[in-house]
Amino acid sequence: MQLSDFLPVPALESAKRILCFQPHPDDNEVGAGATLAKLARGGCEVIFVTMTDGSKGIADAGLSAEEIRAIRQGEAAAAGEILGVSRQIFLDFVDGETPEPAGMKEAVIRLIREVQPDFVLTVDPWLPYEAHPDHRNVGLAVAEAILASGNRHYLPEGPAPWRVEALVLHATLWPNTFVDVDGYWDQKTAAIRAHRSQFSDEEWQFLGPYFDYKARGYAEGRGCERAEAFKVLPPITLHMSTDTVNF
Ligand SMILES: [Zn+2]
Repeated sequence: MQLSDFLPVPALESAKRILCFQPHPDDNEVGAGATLAKLARGGCEVIFVTMTDGSKGIADAGLSAEEIRAIRQGEAAAAGEILGVSRQIFLDFVDGETPEPAGMKEAVIRLIREVQPDFVLTVDPWLPYEAHPDHRNVGLAVAEAILASGNRHYLPEGPAPWRVEALVLHATLWPNTFVDVDGYWDQKTAAIRAHRSQFSDEEWQFLGPYFDYKARGYAEGRGCERAEAFKVLPPITLHMSTDTVNF
């Protein structure tokens, strides 16, 4: 017996509205782009929240933070168009300087309550060797907000409490859900490449084949050519559970 025998893993592909928090423009596309395109095609409302302004994402010293921010928001809009994203929200925390999770949690709770998604997606903050503070901080802020959003004692003056069905983590070492993304891979790669400032032709020569190799690995034995992998967690597994790694 294991935890999933008592509590089924929520079915990500049944999502009706998914709220996707990314630390930077492009994280959603890299980790989940094909799945989000598939969900959008199936009628799911896909909403992106970009937590930072992306202003450290272009090393070229000739551009100001404001110019980089504008470039990256334009790229995010183009990528969202390709995937079928219905709404984009930018919170503009400073790239590379996000506060500790407690400093972002309130903003995340408010958005979850306003948007009322059944699923919430973000990066896995428990990925070993994750050295980027924005990824650790955003992942944890969203996970903490999942526990609090349905409790009226948090932000009692805020929007009405809302309980989500599950938190969906990508860039995870312990996936429990594999989505067949055959037919959606080209949309994913086009959306990633819409972030022109982030992926040079030179880098794409190894990144493109590497992403493809990973997706083929996730698909092995599942009757499809490519898959994306996720850790789908009901809120109850995010507190005092010794079985969540294996869930
Ligand atoms: Zn990122």
